[in-house]
Amino acid sequence: MTVLVTGGAGYIGSHMVWELLDAGENVVVLDRLSTGFEWAVAPEAKLVVGDVADGELVGSIIRENKVDAIIHFAGSIVVPESVADPLAYYENNTSKTRTLIETAVREGVPNFIFSSTAAVYGGAGLEPVREDARLAPESPYGLSKLMSEWMLRDASLAHDIRYTALRYFNVAGADPKGRTGQSTPGATHLIKVACETALGKRPFMQVFGTDYPTPDGTCMRDYIHVSDLAAAHRLALQRLRDGGQSLVANCGYSHGYSVLEVIDSVRRAFGHDFEVRMGDRRAGDAAAVVANSDLARSELGWTPQRDDLDQIVNDALAWERILTSKNSARG
Ligand code: UDP
Repeated sequence: MTVLVTGGAGYIGSHMVWELLDAGENVVVLDRLSTGFEWAVAPEAKLVVGDVADGELVGSIIRENKVDAIIHFAGSIVVPESVADPLAYYENNTSKTRTLIETAVREGVPNFIFSSTAAVYGGAGLEPVREDARLAPESPYGLSKLMSEWMLRDASLAHDIRYTALRYFNVAGADPKGRTGQSTPGATHLIKVACETALGKRPFMQVFGTDYPTPDGTCMRDYIHVSDLAAAHRLALQRLRDGGQSLVANCGYSHGYSVLEVIDSVRRAFGHDFEVRMGDRRAGDAAAVVANSDLARSELGWTPQRDDLDQIVNDALAWERILTSKNSARG
């Protein structure tokens, strides 16, 4: 049995590959290398460079490797980009996922795990959000993922395929063993931006809004360590293989940290100060987005191991240092 990981050269996908290999699984990665990196793929995994919508290619990968599960990470993930170019997001995330599901059904792959997002909820509140909350994506990105969830739901009712869609909250940190991390240039995510600023890769960073209805006025998010997220997928895989029914579950820790708390954690990890400017709100940001993760805990038996902001930040900063030396070695 082999697991096919699409987008396995990217940030979360490359952690998933290590998680699976560490658990003794055979892994094939399918990645276009548009934003991922060949070096990010663990050497024990087989890398195929190609597109998830290439049904012939995916079909041959499935048959040659006896793939019994697909974990689908490949896709576009930048919310403002999806607002500027919605059709590209519906093509890349929704349409290509449709073709991949079709190939999985045609080839008889029984298990499918899909990388979804808290963006399907739209603006949440300070209260942790449950899976049965109102679904109201505020961006083409969120909608492109929600449509994929719906296609999976309908396909699983019509065909012999079961799925788990995991809705990620704010994924951050890096492999504690330093084997992979978030490496795509031009990052916009808070912890990565703060680590880059601490290391002098940016002259300063900005806090986007200080007048939100939160305890310190800055936005609150539920930051989850990427290794805990990968572990949730591994448990989801086990559950599907054991005959578990299709499931949609949040992945977060169920408590939020403010932007200022995150920056303080990066200061502690770095040991020095760096320049932080207070700025205006960023368009489209909700005041708070926090997961209710009871379902992942009860259904998957998921017990987070790294629910600690300082640890997330320490691992992210350590990876940022590794990346600096990798990039300078490459000239
Ligand atoms: N943020 C910020 N400065 C930055 C990047 C992000 O103040 O340079 C804030 C952003 O406004 C949001 C939070 O940090 O409230 C998390 O943003 P991120 O882009 O990491 O994730 P999102 O929740 O938007 O997916």
